[in-house]
Amino acid sequence: MTRVSESTWNNVCAEIDAEAIAQDTLEFVRVRSETGEEGDGSRFLADLLRRDGFEVRLDEIELGRPNVYSTVPHVGATTADARALVFNGHTDTIPVGVSTAPSRDGDWVIGRGTEDMKGGLVAMVHAVAALSKAGVQLAADLTMTGVVGHETPVGKKEGPRRLIEHLRSGAIVADGIIIVEGPKAIWSASLGSTIFTVTISTDRGPIHTVKVPFAENPALWAGKLLTEFARLEEEFSSADAHPLCGREQINVGLLHGGDYFNRLPTDVAVTGTRRWTPGKTFSEVRVQLQQLCDDLANASGLTFELALEANREPFETPPGHPMVQALQEASRVVSGGTPAPLVGMGMVGDANLYTNDGGVATVYYGPAHETAHSDDERVSIANLEHCAKVYALAAMEFCGHHQ
Ligand SMILES: [Zn+2]
Repeated sequence: MTRVSESTWNNVCAEIDAEAIAQDTLEFVRVRSETGEEGDGSRFLADLLRRDGFEVRLDEIELGRPNVYSTVPHVGATTADARALVFNGHTDTIPVGVSTAPSRDGDWVIGRGTEDMKGGLVAMVHAVAALSKAGVQLAADLTMTGVVGHETPVGKKEGPRRLIEHLRSGAIVADGIIIVEGPKAIWSASLGSTIFTVTISTDRGPIHTVKVPFAENPALWAGKLLTEFARLEEEFSSADAHPLCGREQINVGLLHGGDYFNRLPTDVAVTGTRRWTPGKTFSEVRVQLQQLCDDLANASGLTFELALEANREPFETPPGHPMVQALQEASRVVSGGTPAPLVGMGMVGDANLYTNDGGVATVYYGPAHETAHSDDERVSIANLEHCAKVYALAAMEFCGHHQ
């Protein structure tokens, strides 16, 4: 299946140096770039790209907070099966906090941002640099992108959204996006998700509970709402799960109400997450929750107000997509055996946005998804080398190249 000759591939591999990847990753994580103040991280990435001779465009989302883009233009006439590829990652990290200081330990580079996701960005740069050093000429444009404002709640996805504008306008051309983080597997589907808050209120005011029948207390009806959620959960668990990202879910994280043991809680708020499988849409989910609230409002005579935020449609890139096939072939060759498996996750990420809002099929492929957001964040150098090789070969497979 591969359209890359063995000699070309050997030349590319010879340009990928695990030690250099490790050093660049360590230097990158020494640059603090917490969300909102990630300018230095973006500039480090830009310098890394310039060092390898790539032209860089900085796109300021806010003063001092640039997205980074670097396009390697295709050479010669494009062939019919040439496809433009975008590599993507984020230059911000969650707060450094009390995480282990940046260091090296055997096969590990340690520190905030190693796995999530400066290691992947470095592997991306080394992959594309290896292609250029080996004289590989791609038949379609290849664009490397680093975005700001990824990590919530400080990040509002402002970097990804700016990139989406460029994808939609055609300023950045993409037939597929590979996000260079995640498990060492082709993460090709995620559930959709929304954060809901149901506020149950009464117009009685905060009066003594002796004056109010318990049947009219918002706290009781919060309980009934939770029971309805439990009934939904039972429905979800008996329905067919999505083969990659599992079943639909509803769960609760916040429960607020009342301020004194015998005063009526006038407002009780229930906040949680509702996740749904590819094939279903946000509007179906909203209608279902709204119906539940309306029914309980009618039964109780209380007000049930539903608010939904951070809505993300699910994404699923089909196994037959050329980008998935390119990654399968590349991972098969690099590991010398079986192709990387397709996986899905319950959690949502930027692929949900790029696929649904940007209209470009997206998958993740990264060194690991094990220590991100922990205080002992680390990344394996062997896995970064693996990723660099997979990215290089997948780019050749997907974009096509002139032999
Ligand atoms: Zn990340």
